[in-house]
Amino acid sequence: MSKALTRWSRGLTARSLLLLTSLAVSSVVVAVSSVVMLFAQAPDEATRLLTEYVRIDTSNPPGDTRKAADWLASIFAREGIPVTRYESAPGKAIIYARLKATVSPAAGKAIVLLHHMDVVPADRSRWKTDPFTPTIQGGDLWGRGAMDMKGMGVAELIAFLRLKREHVPLSRDVILLAEPDEEVGGADGARWMIANHYAELDPEYMIDEGGFGSGDLFAANKLVYGISVAEKKLIWLKLRAEGVAGHGSQPNDQNPNDRLVKALGRLLGQPMPTGDFSVLNTMLTRVGTFAPNKFTNAIQHSTIALTWIRSGVGEPPKVNVIPSVAEAALDCRVLPGTTREQWVAEIARRLGDPAIKIEVISESDEPSVTTDDSPLYKSLETAIKRRHPDAIVTPILIPYATDSNSFRSKQVKSYGIFPAILPAAVVSQMHGDAEHVPLEAVREAADVFFEALRAMK
Ligand SMILES: [Zn+2]
Repeated sequence: MSKALTRWSRGLTARSLLLLTSLAVSSVVVAVSSVVMLFAQAPDEATRLLTEYVRIDTSNPPGDTRKAADWLASIFAREGIPVTRYESAPGKAIIYARLKATVSPAAGKAIVLLHHMDVVPADRSRWKTDPFTPTIQGGDLWGRGAMDMKGMGVAELIAFLRLKREHVPLSRDVILLAEPDEEVGGADGARWMIANHYAELDPEYMIDEGGFGSGDLFAANKLVYGISVAEKKLIWLKLRAEGVAGHGSQPNDQNPNDRLVKALGRLLGQPMPTGDFSVLNTMLTRVGTFAPNKFTNAIQHSTIALTWIRSGVGEPPKVNVIPSVAEAALDCRVLPGTTREQWVAEIARRLGDPAIKIEVISESDEPSVTTDDSPLYKSLETAIKRRHPDAIVTPILIPYATDSNSFRSKQVKSYGIFPAILPAAVVSQMHGDAEHVPLEAVREAADVFFEALRAMK
């Protein structure tokens, strides 16, 4: 466009506006006020979608995700986005929608936006609000799954829909994948998809749950965004002590309860082991001193949680009978670098009683680490820093298990991040009876995802 023409068109625009203003002030006022009315009545998209989503009870067990999949499918159908659906087991619906690359040739393989549709069960008697009747208070939405992880699912969904609606040029396919079964290990979710339909996804990148931004959780009074690139190894153990049954009136020295309790005392009485792990070192370099809390403790140590002890004869157990067996379960979360064999040997050493049997009930795949030197990591970091220039963005290790680990073992670069600021109190209510999410955080996360995806080459 020539300079003269530009000046002319600018002048025309200004004159047109003046004319419009003088002739149509009253109708503009009417139009503006009806827009305001509309906003007063209709909630924003994040609020509306999250309310609808949390209302669908996907408690696991039983983990039925068919209604949630129907809901997502109807949204994609309305937007003209192709959907594929599977059922890995009765009631375990899996759904994914795909936006094809529009730039040719494509820059690489797909980016998957992953979330799980299932939620942990809620004990209604302990909730102040109904867990499946989303309640909005002070800008927060309360309900089971609001935080873990329907809130993030909605943020991914909105970013995904915007890519389509705004005709953003895509240099690679973007897939929104919604899975069941994460809360019970992912055998009918992520792992089933990998075993049965991996070729359809075959992504280079994945965005999943894991990290988040927080002004107090990682370090006191420092805004830190932790992007998870690795997780600890889950090892669940069952301990079994056997002894000699007898009458409670005449104690014997082969009481399995005594044996187990003494061994557990030795096990838990020692400090939890730390380890030298590269991601942790990077975190410490960037963040400085960690805030003292259960999250930062869990990422600096291999941890052992004694989650149940079972013993006694009869139901209810008889007080005057010494049983012949006592059992306990340990939920161990082990820093990367320690193998299952090394960990079981460490537990045996701590118990100090070779007669106690140790059985591995469940374990996750060996943890793999995703590099933070990649275009998607940088793209996420840039989108976060545009909003919060002072924020420290760092790769992190997370203490809990997510579906990402299964994809990381397929060399997928997986980043776990809910890119918004969450107070430690909100994070600690995941799986709790006061689970809630700030709606502003969902909106902000949607914007960050959108910008990061738009910038991907
Ligand atoms: Zn989750």
